Amino acid sequence: MSETRTPPRVEIVVDLDALRHNLRQLRELMTPLPGEGGVPALMVVVKADGYGHGMHRVARAARQAGAEWLAVATLDEAVALRDGGDEGQLLCWLTVPADDFGPTLQRGVQVSAYDVEQLDRIAAAAHVLGVVAEVQLKVDTGLSRGGSSYDAWPGVVARAVELESTGRVRVTGLWSHFACSDEPEHPANNTQERVFREALVVAEAAGLRPEVRHLANSAAAVLRPSSRFDVVRLGIASYGLTPAPGVVSSAELGLRPAMTARATLALVKAIAAGEGVSYGHTFVAKQPMTVGLVPAGYGDGIPRHASNTAEVTVRGTRCPVLGRICMDQFVVDVTGVGAEPGDEVLLFGSGEGGEPLAQDWAEACGTISYEIVTRIGGRMARSWRGERANGFADGEAT
Ligand SMILES: *Cc1c(COP(=O)(O)O)cnc(C)c1O
Repeated sequence: MSETRTPPRVEIVVDLDALRHNLRQLRELMTPLPGEGGVPALMVVVKADGYGHGMHRVARAARQAGAEWLAVATLDEAVALRDGGDEGQLLCWLTVPADDFGPTLQRGVQVSAYDVEQLDRIAAAAHVLGVVAEVQLKVDTGLSRGGSSYDAWPGVVARAVELESTGRVRVTGLWSHFACSDEPEHPANNTQERVFREALVVAEAAGLRPEVRHLANSAAAVLRPSSRFDVVRLGIASYGLTPAPGVVSSAELGLRPAMTARATLALVKAIAAGEGVSYGHTFVAKQPMTVGLVPAGYGDGIPRHASNTAEVTVRGTRCPVLGRICMDQFVVDVTGVGAEPGDEVLLFGSGEGGEPLAQDWAEACGTISYEIVTRIGGRMARSWRGERANGFADGEAT
């Protein structure tokens, strides 16, 4: 960010140095004591446009920091990453029956299968292309979301063994996903890990020889060493936000939030005691106040649930949101701050300037930091700091 440019009305700035720092820090946290096994490989999850941080830039920075794997949800995301130039190990895991596996298989993307029907479709697509599909089988160990139910697992495994013998499919991984890893004491964690270990035994007894087994997302990777297996899937922690806010803060983990959301103050004015602020007058001034107009709203992904609850930072001072968040604007209390139109308004960021974190906005809104960073955007400009040219193209307009 150059100091001389005119700041946009409202913008997101993503610090890729912070992202690389976080991955180094997470690898450090995953390093076991001598004699306690190996360091898991890092799989950085860049779905949903890199949790709002910009999928291509995040992917490139993650590779620069040594990420052995990337992961996305959909086939389209995987194809876009490849077409942006990423060539490393890449996994995706969410399809519908109408999806065509061809373009992902052609690009050397590993796909996930949850049932026999998907396995057959993957094998058929590989046959048409004359390639070997690399498939990771997912077992549902208790989330009741994606993955083979435990009852169906032996059948899925048996089909995978059959398809391996045709030479069109190779099972490279076995994996599952936690429901409650942000609550380390929750009994579901022990149950899921035990079921996962049993599912591995079933698969290996049937003759599968996967290269990787993985179960942990960010929270489990950080808080539950026994769940790390060969690879950890790191989403939110890569972006510098704590995966388990009830347990540990991002600062305690040595993580740096990579996204800053900022705006330029549009207007400053006095209001009298008794005046209502914003739609519905859900805030009424008890005494004379100075208010500032922030030119961002739910049309930019600012949650309306932040009405009367979140805070921003102006001139180093925390300023509460007054009244409702509107589509394009909201009002903050700048009484005594000496604020002027044109001042920088920090919505959330790394915290280094005393500003709130995305986690603080999440708490104000009754949600999780994942939703805050992923939904923000809309009309906001977005730029990146710490970009290092290497390899693949930007492939992104904003
Ligand atoms: C999104 C996702 C992750 C990443 O989770 P974090 O909590 O952000 O680390 C890991 N695994 C699966 C299956 C996911 O859908």
